[in-house]
Amino acid sequence: MKKEKIKVVLCCFEKIPSDVIKEAKSIIEKKFNAEVKVVKGLFLPPTRVRKVEGVQQLLADSFLAPVAAQAGEGYGIGITVQDIYTPDTNFVFGLASPLLRSAIVSTYRLKAKGSVLFLRRIAKEIVHELGHAIYDLPHCKNPKCVMHFSNSVEDTDKKLNSFCSECLEKIKRAKKEKEELEKVKNFFEEVKRWEKRKYKTK
Ligand SMILES: [Zn+2]
Ligand SMILES: [Zn+2]
Repeated sequence: MKKEKIKVVLCCFEKIPSDVIKEAKSIIEKKFNAEVKVVKGLFLPPTRVRKVEGVQQLLADSFLAPVAAQAGEGYGIGITVQDIYTPDTNFVFGLASPLLRSAIVSTYRLKAKGSVLFLRRIAKEIVHELGHAIYDLPHCKNPKCVMHFSNSVEDTDKKLNSFCSECLEKIKRAKKEKEELEKVKNFFEEVKRWEKRKYKTK
């Protein structure tokens, strides 16, 4: 059986610079062996706004449903230039939901002097959030692993853009589980097809 590539929809809220989109698309294709569709110019979702130290922040959670709606049967990752937060945090770089198969990343606090470093940070946070959203990966204690929790950009700079061997093992298991689920789904579809068959004989 030919394995289909997973599908990821990259959702750009408002205007996202083209080099950011290009980097995001290529890292997702590379790290997840995914087919990536880019959706540009999405409106900001209706959300709660707060001000922390003079900076306007939007509730990260509000982005997940619109991203999931764009993703359909696949997975979705949103990018925003806005600063985002989630309850009990002063800010977040991103947020993910495996249930909604979607995530959001903010570039606001990833800004760097050079664009190379800026893009590198964005790539890491995207891989991190999709690791949560696609494979339900928890945070990893290995500071070099992309699934390590970033409290600051310094943490982001310390980690690589790839999964450590332990996380790769978890991904393998998650993939197997997904395949099993797929088999069950196919089985029930087959049953449904047979249920429809009726032969009348008089
Ligand atoms: Zn995380
Ligand atoms: Zn790891």
